[in-house]
Amino acid sequence: MTERHTPRVVPLVDQRSASLLTPAAAFSSRTRMAATGLLTDTRGRPLRDLRISVTDRCNFRCNYCMPKEIFDKDYSYLPHSDLLSFEEITRIAKVFVAHGVQKIRLTGGEPLLRKNIELLIEQLSALRTLEGRPLDLTLTTNGSLLARKARALKAAGLQRVTVSLDGLDDAVFRSMNDVDFPVADVLAGIEAAREVGLGHSTAGAAGGLKINMVVKRGTNEHEILPMARRFRGSGIVLRFIEYMDVGATNGWRMNEVLPSAEVVKLIHAELPLVQLEPSNPGETAERWGYANAAGQHDKAMGEIGVISSVTQAFCGDCNRARLSTEGKLYLCLFASQGYDLRSLIRADASDADLASAIGHIWQGRTDRYSELRSALAPDVGGGVRRVEMSYIGG
Ligand code: SAM
Ligand code: SF4
Ligand code: SF4
Repeated sequence: MTERHTPRVVPLVDQRSASLLTPAAAFSSRTRMAATGLLTDTRGRPLRDLRISVTDRCNFRCNYCMPKEIFDKDYSYLPHSDLLSFEEITRIAKVFVAHGVQKIRLTGGEPLLRKNIELLIEQLSALRTLEGRPLDLTLTTNGSLLARKARALKAAGLQRVTVSLDGLDDAVFRSMNDVDFPVADVLAGIEAAREVGLGHSTAGAAGGLKINMVVKRGTNEHEILPMARRFRGSGIVLRFIEYMDVGATNGWRMNEVLPSAEVVKLIHAELPLVQLEPSNPGETAERWGYANAAGQHDKAMGEIGVISSVTQAFCGDCNRARLSTEGKLYLCLFASQGYDLRSLIRADASDADLASAIGHIWQGRTDRYSELRSALAPDVGGGVRRVEMSYIGG
């Protein structure tokens, strides 16, 4: 069965207007916090990774993210004046970096749809970590505009990209993006990214050009092996993502999740794998290297990653914050509300005010949705609605 025939979607309840209040202590002279880089939340987790959604629009309608039935011509996207400007994004990002952020990922919606995105990349690439190093600056894209834009992105200072690709079979791919977009154009985008050097990273092999494949049981699991064969030995790290219950419109059901353990088993049966050490703390993917005849990692053949957000909770060292398209700070991918930073900066807050606000918000963070998931009632058909991934960013 293909995505196109899946009728199950859940109507959207708009969570975008709701927001949480920044703790008042952030603005009191006695309890103000400065950015020191030592910030931790209630569970001792530092703040290292910031994901910024630069648009809530997309030219694809992947059923697991922006189902066509909801994101149709009547859907009201954010007006341009609600979006953070590039200057506002850079200003907020700079304060996050002062708090210890080392990695920034631009996402969306489809980030390459945001006009002049390379100007934002130029501004962000000028930022330096507390140790004086360039940020690990990356972007997640559906690849549709990559062939056209790869060179300009690289020239603006982007270090690497992650491209989403859910299969190699053209019919499967067209049906999953649900706008009949051909797979060949995304493959050409990946090739262009590689040619201009968007795969070379100071973070080593695991930090270079990546491909994300969302696996949905009954939809594209038969694409797992062709994808593994195609990218083995290519220098590109292919990562398999469990279909997640993000947002509230995709009609998620547990029986459509193919556990990562099954993905590893399937590939291992044909192309033997060995487990590798995590590349850094807070890393979401479990790494598996292709093995040589002696059962050791064959570096020339590279590695895959599996992201088991559903079957294996990894909240314990989650160091990621998310900034939505209109400037709300979300502390978890599965949060239903965020903190309105845009209203702070549009009300003339100083950088010190902003640093104190972010400090207090992160210090109070308790989120660990994936760990709690199994104890929660399924979030379909009622209750608190989570915010959509296209708005908060993946
Ligand atoms: N449009 C860009 C893209 O598709 O790469 C960036 C935004 S997209 C929201 C970021 C990532 O989230 C993509 O890799 C996408 O496959 C993934 N994603 C979206 N919905 C998902 C879901 N329900 N489960 C797992 N991954 C999902
Ligand atoms: Fe668009 Fe990315 Fe969501 Fe697909 S996953 S609909 S490409 S934002
Ligand atoms: Fe982080 Fe939330 Fe995902 Fe847990 S569920 S890993 S806290 S984003």
